[in-house]
Amino acid sequence: PFLCVTDLLRVHTAEHGERRAVICEGREISYAELDAEVDRFAASLQRDGVAPCDAVAIAAHASIDYVVAFLGALRAGAVVAPLAPSSSPASLAGMIANSGARLLFLDEDVERVLESVATDVYARRVHIGRPGALDAWLEPVGAKPAHVEIQPQWGFNIIYSSGTTGTPKGIVQAHAMRWAYAVRSVDRGYGPHVVTMISTPLYSNTTLVSFFPTLTLGGTVVLMPKFDVKGFLELAQRYRATHAMLVPVQYQRIMDFPEFDRYDLSSFEAKFSTSAPFGARLKADIVKRWPGALTEYYGMTEGGGSCELVATAYPDKLHTVGKPIAGHDIRLIDEAGREVPQGEIGEVVGHSPAMMTGYHNQPEKTAEAEWYDPSGKRFIRTGDLGRFDEDGFLTLLDRKKDMIISGGFNVYPSDLEAEIRTHADVYDVAVVGIESQQWGETPVAFVVPHAQATVSEEGLKTYANGRLGKMQRVADVVFVDAMPRSPIGKVLKRELRERYTTIKQ
Ligand code: ATP
Ligand code: MG
Repeated sequence: PFLCVTDLLRVHTAEHGERRAVICEGREISYAELDAEVDRFAASLQRDGVAPCDAVAIAAHASIDYVVAFLGALRAGAVVAPLAPSSSPASLAGMIANSGARLLFLDEDVERVLESVATDVYARRVHIGRPGALDAWLEPVGAKPAHVEIQPQWGFNIIYSSGTTGTPKGIVQAHAMRWAYAVRSVDRGYGPHVVTMISTPLYSNTTLVSFFPTLTLGGTVVLMPKFDVKGFLELAQRYRATHAMLVPVQYQRIMDFPEFDRYDLSSFEAKFSTSAPFGARLKADIVKRWPGALTEYYGMTEGGGSCELVATAYPDKLHTVGKPIAGHDIRLIDEAGREVPQGEIGEVVGHSPAMMTGYHNQPEKTAEAEWYDPSGKRFIRTGDLGRFDEDGFLTLLDRKKDMIISGGFNVYPSDLEAEIRTHADVYDVAVVGIESQQWGETPVAFVVPHAQATVSEEGLKTYANGRLGKMQRVADVVFVDAMPRSPIGKVLKRELRERYTTIKQ
């Protein structure tokens, strides 16, 4: 029969029950304790009538209770919808309704958010943040659930996409898909000895692709509910971390930290990054100063196809996101849906063993996201533009929605960002297209200057336009204190476009 992650929890408990499964804010839980708590949680859900394949939602900050809730729901055969607690009231209500969750486990601040929305969010609510609240709901210690035989095609979780480009879409990932990620992780050095640092939110696939393999294979997760550089380095050193999944902004902040070189990070075997552009210079800096392999993944929650770049092995390919992972088929297509010739830019579409079943309760959106090759093989569209080099490495340009069409020419913000970044005073930059009478759209650069920068907005514009092609020239440079980013560290270009319109009114 199929072994789900919670079945493996029993195996690990039998083999090394005393080993730490999760460490979070000074609290620790062993495999044996976790297994017992997960039983109790699953039994409580069954008492409340939760049946296999029912949805259960969690909108809370990371904690050991969160882990128990997630695994407990899985053991009851439920599909888990982990929701971003920082979402707007409308978005939270939308996700709860879309998921069809019967129960919602939430923190107090989320409860406050929900108070302001219509009363048609009817999932029953149970607090997990407030001490004691969960205990009151739980069955007594030692309670055992009825056994549920989990099927590989059942939903494991419904992950809501980041909403970087629009309303978040619910993506159903089956048990088999999570299993595929865990199997793949064995090759990445995951195993019972692993100590993985997790400091990104648990509602994001970026986090879960590292979190679940660690537990599936019997390792230890060090959970950081709120990331800060010093805290991260201290925890990594104290627990002799071997693995970490971080997003590029976190890497940037860690490498900028003046005391970085004083920490002993010699226990590291592998570090991973995904979810947003990862600058070649930053990768090179990490390879030089932080022990262990560095691997970048490119992929999406929908699981089309992924690429992988082992930065430590390919120093001359750091500007790319690497090559497709074994068993993943990635193609590039044009507007008409035909494959583009080698070397040309196209939209990335991918096929893999970890493809989503579809968007939850949104068949039209699912259909829009699919592409079939002439032989009828199913691919998922990414909305990202890319180009393969002659060695088969993929360079990512921009999201299609972010590409600027200026005077009929395609202008790629990533090209402009790379040029502007060459100025020594530039710490961070994002280029967006703004409506223009003359060109249709025209590029504008938002720049976070370095603390000691002396260049002016006008000076930087002159510098940039001296290096850019005629059609690429920026109409404006705007200095900002910080880039608006999603909780997972993606630049919110939508917000920058709106901000510009307000500034100029
Ligand atoms: P939404 O679909 O709701 O707009 P999203 O696309 O940001 O949100 P995710 O599934 O979290 O949701 O992110 C996948 C996207 O993240 C990819 O399509 C790509 O644009 C970007 N991405 C992922 N990995 C990388 C990477 N290594 N380099 C650059 N961009 C990346
Ligand atoms: Mg997306």
